[in-house]
This record gives sequence, structure tokens and C-alpha cells, in this order.
Amino acid sequence: MIRFDRYKDGKRYALTFSYDDGCKQDRRLVELFNKYEMKATFNMNSRTVLTTTTGIRAEEIRPLFVEHGHEIACHSVTHPHLERMLIKDQYDELMCDREALEKASGTIIRGLAYPFGTYSAETFTAMDTASIVYGRTATSHGGFTLPDDFKVWNPTTHHNECERPVRSFIYNVTKAPWRAGGVLYIWGHAYEFDNPNAPVGWEKFEEILASLYEHRDGYWAATNLEIYDYVQALKKIRRSADGKMLYNPTDIDVWVSNDDEPLKIGACQTVIVD
Ligand SMILES: [Zn+2]
Repeated sequence: MIRFDRYKDGKRYALTFSYDDGCKQDRRLVELFNKYEMKATFNMNSRTVLTTTTGIRAEEIRPLFVEHGHEIACHSVTHPHLERMLIKDQYDELMCDREALEKASGTIIRGLAYPFGTYSAETFTAMDTASIVYGRTATSHGGFTLPDDFKVWNPTTHHNECERPVRSFIYNVTKAPWRAGGVLYIWGHAYEFDNPNAPVGWEKFEEILASLYEHRDGYWAATNLEIYDYVQALKKIRRSADGKMLYNPTDIDVWVSNDDEPLKIGACQTVIVD
């Protein structure tokens, strides 16, 4: 039986992070992600990040993030409540952010974390027009499922509450690989780690990353956009009527389960199963 329940390299689980605002503490955080071979998405407000001295500078974006495989995504130009704005102004907030971040990063920006986590139906229209394919909210769902609609991508947990979901993720990865699998998605702001009263500070967070790293063979460490693109490719697999012929029309290698074993369907390849 074929099941569409695998991520890259046949893994049943994936791990991703999303950090907002482009603050100076991102420099320390990205070092931790690099050390533990994890991938993250950094959501930046181009006005505050690129034109002031308090955040990440434009010339740092490539060496600090992009060259280590991390994603840069939009967080709007000025961090407004998008849903309170005219649709054309929402569009400008997204498109101008894209342009500035693309210039700095040398990558094509396609993701968004909503400033304040808020949005409206018009925001979705502005995103479509600005070619932004996903939007991360600030509403944690505690689980490992992915959304049907990536414009409402609720993460698993804020890092301050991540200890329990991390424990159950590690349990699933190690003890119950037959479970449905899924994505552990942690989000936050790097400046929060500086707060001495925060439930999860720098040291605690490093311990958590180290505990995940021990089980790195069980999950795919990916940016938000890599997960989005992989899932879209998986949805595009064409199947013959008897289900024995599978064709991958995309430029991304995907994996499925064939009688519970991972089966690779390479980009533009057809695979026949018994
Ligand atoms: Zn923000």
C-alpha cells in the first residue's frame, strides 16, 4: 500500500524553526542552529532591519544566514497590523519587503510571518499578488500536523513552551516510528532568550537543541520554505488507476511509503510498484 507520509530522504518527521524581527540576538541563535545542524527561517522587517544599527545589517544577511542554508522571509516593511490596512498598502508592505530582502539575500523570498500574527482575507489576496506562498501565524497548536492551507500555518509551539512538545516529538521519532509522523515547528524572537526570567533562556534552549540533535537520523531539518515546497511536490504525484505507477512531474525528489518502506520517486521519474 502506498502512503504519502514521508519527507526528504524517506524521513517520517521534520523539524523547522521560525524567528521574527531580525534582532541582533539572531547572530547568536543562528550559531546554535549551525552547531546542531538545524535549519531555520528568519523573518525580517526590511525598514527596521536593514536601515538601522539595532538589528541585522543588510550585508550580514548572506554570510550569517543564507550561506548556512537558512531561509530569509518577509515580516513586512514596518511591522503593522496588516488587517487594519487598505489592501494596496498591505501589498506594498509585502512586496517592498520582498524586494529589499531579495536584494540583501540574493534569494527569491516567498514566505511570510504575519506581524503580530494577525491577518484578514484581504491579506491572503495581497499575498497572492505579491507571490508569497505561506504565512506563519502566532497561534501554536501543540501538535505535529501541517495545515491544508499554508496561508494559515500554525506552528507547534513558541520556544518558551517547547519542552513538552520536544519530548513527545523525540518519543515519536524514537519509540513509535509507525505513527503518522509530522513536523515539529518552533517559533519565537531571539531577544526573548536574553530575559533572565524567561522559561527558556539561551542555556536551556541549547540543551533542548542538543537533545533533538541526538536523534537527528529520525528527522529532516528544513526551512519553512523547503517543507512547503516538498509538500507541494508530494501533492503533485500522479498515480495510475491501479495505483502501481507513480510519476513525479516536479523538480524535487520525493519519498512515499510502499508497504511501510520508504520509496524514492526522483524528480521527473516514474516508479512502478508491485
Ligand atoms: Zn514581529
